[in-house]
Amino acid sequence: MLRKWSIAALVLATMLAVGCGEPEGVDVVNQWVAPQWIDGGCEYLDDLALTTVEGLAERAEAYAVVKVSPDLSGLSESEHGVLDELVAAGKIMQDMFRAQATPCYDALATRVAAYNGADEAALDRYFEINAGPWDRRMHHEAFVGGFERPEGANFYPQDLTRADRDAIAADSAMTDLFTMVRRDLDGELVAVSYSEYFGPGLAQAATHLRNAAALTDNASLAAFLNARADAFLSDDYFESDMLWMDVDSRVEVTIGPYEVYEDGLFGYKAAFEAFVTVTDPAESDKLASYKDALPWLEANLPLADEHKNLDRGSESPIRVVDLVYSGGDTRAGIQTIAFNLPNDERVREAKGSKKVLMRNIMNAKFDKILLPIAEVVIDPAQLQYVNPGSFFGHTLWHEMSHGLGPGQLVIDGRETEVRLELKDTYATIEEAKADVMGMWDILKLHQAGRLEFAEGIEKLQPVTYLAGMFRSVRFGINEAHGQANAIQFNYLLDHGGIEYDEASGQFSVNFDRFQPVLELLLNEVLVMEAEGDYDAAQALITEYAHMPQVLADALARLEAIPVDIQSEFSHYPGL
Ligand code: ZN
Repeated sequence: MLRKWSIAALVLATMLAVGCGEPEGVDVVNQWVAPQWIDGGCEYLDDLALTTVEGLAERAEAYAVVKVSPDLSGLSESEHGVLDELVAAGKIMQDMFRAQATPCYDALATRVAAYNGADEAALDRYFEINAGPWDRRMHHEAFVGGFERPEGANFYPQDLTRADRDAIAADSAMTDLFTMVRRDLDGELVAVSYSEYFGPGLAQAATHLRNAAALTDNASLAAFLNARADAFLSDDYFESDMLWMDVDSRVEVTIGPYEVYEDGLFGYKAAFEAFVTVTDPAESDKLASYKDALPWLEANLPLADEHKNLDRGSESPIRVVDLVYSGGDTRAGIQTIAFNLPNDERVREAKGSKKVLMRNIMNAKFDKILLPIAEVVIDPAQLQYVNPGSFFGHTLWHEMSHGLGPGQLVIDGRETEVRLELKDTYATIEEAKADVMGMWDILKLHQAGRLEFAEGIEKLQPVTYLAGMFRSVRFGINEAHGQANAIQFNYLLDHGGIEYDEASGQFSVNFDRFQPVLELLLNEVLVMEAEGDYDAAQALITEYAHMPQVLADALARLEAIPVDIQSEFSHYPGL
């Protein structure tokens, strides 16, 4: 049983804490966190020496700086005003996320800013990229200070015992998505709602959203913004998530607590983030027509008719946008190119989910990473086919393909789902399916003359797809996306869809073999999904999800090429 706590006691505790625990000359209070929550575990800063790891400059350089400057010239005066308000709210998400990610973030940031070692500039940049002292690309290893990251980031107290963990797991308030877990004056664990813990920040963010709602003449956007502002103060996000699905305006925003990956201890707590975007009306109209092709694709999948999902009614909207500003969870570490929200199953049940593709971020990754990779590993005769439109196209059709193929199953009269039958292999198999089918969709639609694609798409798309696999496996083949890419690469190589030239160490697409082999793999994956065949899924992973020497050698030659990008938002510099 948890003890009731009182604000008065906590304020007293705060005063004591300020009196004795505050590092000299350092303001440890994040201005968006309510003052009574100054408590959480700053002890680790007391004796922390800012020793940096070797090679910090190289780690920072692995993120290429990119100026993100979408064309806003078509926006009206009031739309610019809306953007300003949304970015102001997004910046608060950025600051609140840092407080979630790193205990005593502000105090540590102040120390880092005062650091004047030889790698001063690299430390500043890397601390910013990682929203703290732990390397998101290296399993959260400390790159400064040598202090191990608390698994639960700053969502929980730093001194949890085994019994505390059990108590948290058994308590519905403490496992809630939208609470921080803290200790009261008596040392008892308490759940503190986000609306209370982050009260000042959420109140300010709510004001910015209401201001934006008053400025916009788009009713769907205004309805979402007002409901989201209410949610910030009530911790009830359901209605605003529902309204977000219907937003259809030039300027759009995705803002609030969403993903739970930052909570490495339990995965209970949602991290704050914001995407402020402008949609491309012409591109979005095109997408609407793409969706009409989905039933035709399903009917033509290389799969027995009895397994086809011909009445799958997926009305999930897809948007193509340019990013104007991002803050919080999504801004830390590897940059998102597409997302699929909300996560609330009640909303998904009622309205599906919205897939948002960020075109300018994809283009930036193409320029800074994918093309330089292709220049090293792709046969020079085929380099001309590597193009940004095909990189974007594959990402788009990958997302579309998640909605095609088997989903609900009946096995021996038992109702079940692909996900439940494939268990731990599901994420890898489903990602492989979406990748392979995304590639197959484009060739198939082009050959049937059902949609217009770029001139030469039958060569552009496969070669760009091949180059893209090198980019993906660089993140490692220990998780679903990396494994899925390794499966495709090895399968295509073994069956002659792609070829390796030993003399040059470069790869090429065999245009005659490529599509038949792709279809073979697609059929294998679809059949194992349709039959819920866990053993077959495991066998495919065992046989193909590994790093062959030729691939390892190729990756070794890519070391000087950035792994990801760090965005600078030209319209809102410094935010
Ligand atoms: Zn996917």
